Amino acid sequence: MQKFEKPIYVTQPVLPSLNEFTKLLEDIWQSKHLTNGGKYHELLEKTLADYLGVKYVSLFSNGTLALIIALQTLRITGEVITTPFSFVATTHALWWNGIKPVFADIDINTLNINPLKVEAAITPKTTAIMPVHVFGNPCEIDVLQKIADTYRLKIIYDAAHAFGVKRLNKSILNFGDLSVLSFHATKVFNTIEGGAIICHDEQTKINIDYLKNFGYSGEFTVVGPGINAKMNELQAAYGLLQLKSIECDIEKRKQISATYRNLLNDVNGILALNDWENIQHNYAYFPILIEQNQFGRTRDEVYDFLRTKNVYARKYFYPLISEFSTYQGLDSATAANLPIATKVAKQVLCLPIYPNLEVADVEKICDFIKSFRG
Ligand SMILES: *Cc1c(COP(=O)(O)O)cnc(C)c1O
Repeated sequence: MQKFEKPIYVTQPVLPSLNEFTKLLEDIWQSKHLTNGGKYHELLEKTLADYLGVKYVSLFSNGTLALIIALQTLRITGEVITTPFSFVATTHALWWNGIKPVFADIDINTLNINPLKVEAAITPKTTAIMPVHVFGNPCEIDVLQKIADTYRLKIIYDAAHAFGVKRLNKSILNFGDLSVLSFHATKVFNTIEGGAIICHDEQTKINIDYLKNFGYSGEFTVVGPGINAKMNELQAAYGLLQLKSIECDIEKRKQISATYRNLLNDVNGILALNDWENIQHNYAYFPILIEQNQFGRTRDEVYDFLRTKNVYARKYFYPLISEFSTYQGLDSATAANLPIATKVAKQVLCLPIYPNLEVADVEKICDFIKSFRG
């Protein structure tokens, strides 16, 4: 089998029509209103709140700053319990707030933080939990909320992967105290760079908006040490156009996901996560776990082999955040404390998935994987 002529990356953004974008750009040029809550910014906040089925959306220049501000908004200090199986920004947001990250292990079935391990990690210094809906699959939100209520902790969800995900027809962004989205180019919905905080009451939304604009509450009033994390008008206009195709884009992802599952279903040693009951998924990623004993090859061998075929799968999330030098000295960062995450990080591989990926290409990727069985 011939390798792909052009590289197939793990993802590829959907770009809006350049013609339509140009029209909006002309309007922005005319108005000369480039940032600071212009009309496209306001419209995107409202349109997104409607589309997602949430009360308040505050747009940000990126997801990492949104995470940092979310922690500031709730004045989180001390220790926060979080997952090591995520993109490094989750823990960096804690570090930037002077908070001590405490890693709790993940659940083997969901790959999300294990609520039992969260409860076991609580100390008198714990103030909050920062779980991640990894690969867009919802955390055990009810169990986590119960723990938070019992121990009077806040929950800030890193929902960077969870755009549009619903449980029983309700957005999972409605759970916890705050949820944070990323609109980076690699995500299901993108504004090139961008992000948002989802909150449930107006006063919180007002506070968030002060914080992202230097703390200004009026022309001459600064109410706190804010930062600059605003989304500009060009990104917001782009986002409005991007929203037009989102349903269709997610549907295409679903088809690709189904094709992968069909073709890899009977391959011994390759495990794909199934769709979950009552969940409307967004098919942001297509992770598989490779069991070396059954498949006859390690994850790293499959990864390297696919690269020779011009397929750039990604080892999300390897290394674990707890394995990076910044965090590996923490008491909770040991493999002994994180056995499941440590095992999964060695087995996981995210296969290419994006709306414009051809089904024939998905079939070929699966053929490559099958041909490589040891
Ligand atoms: C992408 C991502 C972020 C960071 O978002 P940016 O918009 O790139 O700053 C945070 N957490 C997770 C889990 C992510 O995947």
